[in-house]
Amino acid sequence: MRLVSTRDAATTATFREAVLAGIAPGGGLWMPDPLPHFEDWPELLDLDWGRRCEVLLDRLLAGELGREPLARAVRDALDFPVPLVEIRPKIFVLELFHGPTLAFKDFGARFFAAVLDLVRDPGHPPRRITILTATSGDTGAAVAQAFWKRPGVRAVVLYPKGRVSALQERQFSTLGENVTALAVDGAFDDCQALVKAAFADAELSARHGLTSANSINVARLLPQTLYYAEAVAQLRRRGVSQPPVIAVPSGNFGNLCAGLLARSMGLPVKAFVAATNANDTVPEYLDTGAYRPRPSIATISNAMDVGAPNNWERIEHLFEGDLETLRRVLRWGWKTDEETASVIRDLHAAGYLADPHAAVAYGVLEERLAPGETGVFLGTAHPAKFLPVYEAMGIAVPIPEPLRVLLDRPLLAREIPNEIGAVVGVLEGG
Ligand SMILES: *Cc1c(COP(=O)(O)O)cnc(C)c1O
Repeated sequence: MRLVSTRDAATTATFREAVLAGIAPGGGLWMPDPLPHFEDWPELLDLDWGRRCEVLLDRLLAGELGREPLARAVRDALDFPVPLVEIRPKIFVLELFHGPTLAFKDFGARFFAAVLDLVRDPGHPPRRITILTATSGDTGAAVAQAFWKRPGVRAVVLYPKGRVSALQERQFSTLGENVTALAVDGAFDDCQALVKAAFADAELSARHGLTSANSINVARLLPQTLYYAEAVAQLRRRGVSQPPVIAVPSGNFGNLCAGLLARSMGLPVKAFVAATNANDTVPEYLDTGAYRPRPSIATISNAMDVGAPNNWERIEHLFEGDLETLRRVLRWGWKTDEETASVIRDLHAAGYLADPHAAVAYGVLEERLAPGETGVFLGTAHPAKFLPVYEAMGIAVPIPEPLRVLLDRPLLAREIPNEIGAVVGVLEGG
């Protein structure tokens, strides 16, 4: 697969190069180019989930990664169910939270971990890699668990002390072994700045094989195209052949970008709905044509608290900056916390417990769906990851087993001051 930088058509990379580099020189993001267009979707959609994932990724990556190793990586990484549940007539939720950390970040993080083994330089002796990542919650859990006990890799997760939910913290702070959790005395932005500072130190980067696992890595983007096909496949199995309108709860817009890529490869999707919380940089842009990135606002759908979405650049690239075409493929809207809570209550009364992010998507989908259309919204996390939201609403949430077992485990996080010297100290083994 050839990738091209969003900022310079002359800057290209192989998949291997793009995965290892993370970001393109000059700050651009890598995009597959040319994008294949598949003519055999009816047959592809007849395959089961696991087989279809293997076939699609084989077409994209086998030339570079080798057919058998790639197939094994896909099977290992994407080995959990993706159920489509009917909420009311012609409206479905695609539940993406049945992986080990109960959020859709598992698709990208697990595939990234699996392919990193295939693309890294084996060397003699093999060079050790350190995955350094800052998290506001879900990413740290997915990355830490994806790399846990993997030989030759260490994962270091920085998070803002006291500012992630108790269960989220336990998901990456109770693992130990090759996972180090660092509770930083600061905010999420400080954690991100520390990670950036570590990468900016070329000597430190080289010595520890620092590698980024953030959402701009193309190895996290590609596997996210696969579940859009699964939504369409499951609709067909239920006798719905009409292409659906799919609502995506969005923050950094990697998930929506993956959906648009799937559609560009020929997947029959009528339209996408870009749904955000009060961080409405993109809905405002689609309304007015003015793109105004800004600091984020805290909401109850906190994984979408992004005011400067870093994957939007990819979507602009895909549409060659043509706002009119984009407006034909996308519908959009945003929800306040009050509106989101009211959607959660309504869905709960109708027998479905939605997490706050899915609730935003449902709320906007309901407004944007035309009579007769089939709608799908993405359930991006399990509600139990956000217990305080439901406690405040008087809704009891059963805690699933993968989270319950964490409650008894000791927290192994180390507290560090908000200083790069402290991060360096941990990396150097101090
Ligand atoms: C990360 C996340 C999102 C936002 O996804 P993007 O790809 O950043 O737009 C939505 N919901 C949940 C639960 C998340 O963890």
